[in-house]
Amino acid sequence: MGGQPMFILSEDAERTRGEDAQSSNIQAGKAVAETVRTTLGPRGMDKMLVSDSGDVVITNDGATILEKMDIEHPAAQMIVEVASTQEEEVGDGTTTASVLAGQLLAQAEDLLDDDVHPTTIVEGYHAASQLALDAIDDLVLDEELDDDLLQSVAASSMTGKGTGDINAGALAETVVAAVRHAETGDGIARNDIALRTQTGAGASATELVEGVITEEEPAHAAMPRSVEAANVAVLDLDLDLQEANIDAEYNVTDVSQLEQALDAEEEELAGYADTLVDAGVDVAFVTGDIADRVASVLGKEDVLAVESVSDDDASAIARATGSTTVGSLQDLESADLGHADSIHVESYGGDDLTFVEGGENAETVTLFVRGGTEHVADELERALNDALDVVIAALTEGGVVPGAGATEIAIADAVRSGATSVEGRKQLAVEAFADAVDVLPRTLAENTGLDPIDALVDLRNRHDSEGVAGLISEGQSGNVGDPVDAGVLDPAAVKREAVESATEAATMIARIDDVISSS
Ligand code: ADP
Ligand code: MG
Repeated sequence: MGGQPMFILSEDAERTRGEDAQSSNIQAGKAVAETVRTTLGPRGMDKMLVSDSGDVVITNDGATILEKMDIEHPAAQMIVEVASTQEEEVGDGTTTASVLAGQLLAQAEDLLDDDVHPTTIVEGYHAASQLALDAIDDLVLDEELDDDLLQSVAASSMTGKGTGDINAGALAETVVAAVRHAETGDGIARNDIALRTQTGAGASATELVEGVITEEEPAHAAMPRSVEAANVAVLDLDLDLQEANIDAEYNVTDVSQLEQALDAEEEELAGYADTLVDAGVDVAFVTGDIADRVASVLGKEDVLAVESVSDDDASAIARATGSTTVGSLQDLESADLGHADSIHVESYGGDDLTFVEGGENAETVTLFVRGGTEHVADELERALNDALDVVIAALTEGGVVPGAGATEIAIADAVRSGATSVEGRKQLAVEAFADAVDVLPRTLAENTGLDPIDALVDLRNRHDSEGVAGLISEGQSGNVGDPVDAGVLDPAAVKREAVESATEAATMIARIDDVISSS
């Protein structure tokens, strides 16, 4: 016996094993899911997140909350990943997915306590998630995805988000119009839909602009602030003297030589302006700087020029107007110019924004998001982003299912029925999965101020008799009813992704029995 102990880890490494490791991971995962639980659904509350530097974000969006929370525990981070994957893949349902993952972990913990082996839990959860996905497919509405229906989908995703109780219907209409604009023969060009927030007006002033909005303003006060039927140049360069030129030392021996040198610079600068005018440019968007001298000549010639345009805006403007971005003035030809019906500069408080509307290839549209304050506008932007994503997901990824917890009630029911044909202890895990799914309608009830047990019983009864039952919240109250009639609809893809990513994270965490952290 005995002999030397063998060290395979460095002295600094920390190690937690077996049940301790499992339990600490599960606790961490559950805790993270718990933090977003109260935000679920139209009656969910918001979170205020304050960063180190004092920046404040007020939001109801699961992915945003988890991302800003700066979570360190590795298992907890996997729940954050569930939310961010959900956001990337379908753009909505982040709270649903993380709450489900947390509850799958809670159920797994009970099973482990009852000596069900982790592998059995993993197998049971996978079998159950397949049953759940099949149930979702069965729930897909076979109605045509017309504008009315899509507006319901958009409105469902926005209820309870910084939109307040203002006309969510009007916003939903704007969202669907934006998506219809970006529809092409083969899909939807999501990149053709931009969002631009601007404070100073209520959310109901949010509108759809057929074109691009850039934050920059005219480079010179003498320039026109509005140009109709404009020939547009997009220039990726500086309309200024080259650095080397400015720094060059002149060997000046008399005043006339100095004047000559300065004249030469003036001439060069004026030459830039002339080149644009000669090419027939009415409006120029420049990514670099425009020298004052150039700007003033352009102003005299009635040319509107905007400097420091971001690369993203420049390429959006180029696409919208059908112009070719030019990197050097010598290369500018009239064929490079694009066209827009109207380019105008508008003032909002202290900010000037330049609108490029009715471009030659006017596929690009911008949701001009208004809010009374920056916090409101930012939260509304997140809500509109979700709404755009759900409409696109409904159109391109397999339709819509009833919302308000109805799909979850049906999933739990289907998984419970399916459990009977699963052998051995695995059956316990399948049943536990069904119980975990119940957390979603239960939470919707809680957040509406209803008794969760009573609500669940009502929902199940109604589901058994009518085939579909949701907890529809209207104003202050919540009632059991048919979400399809009430227009509460979610994309099937959001539910599928939530089931898949939550199952994946929960089974991954449950399988870990050893945590080795090196420092
Ligand atoms: P998530 O981050 O998961 O999208 P939300 O806070 O957006 O979380 O809540 C989404 C849930 O709210 C979905 O299940 C959706 O069906 C439900 N929902 C939306 N509108 C209503 C409504 N009027 N009544 C009841 N539930 C609703
Ligand atoms: Mg949502």
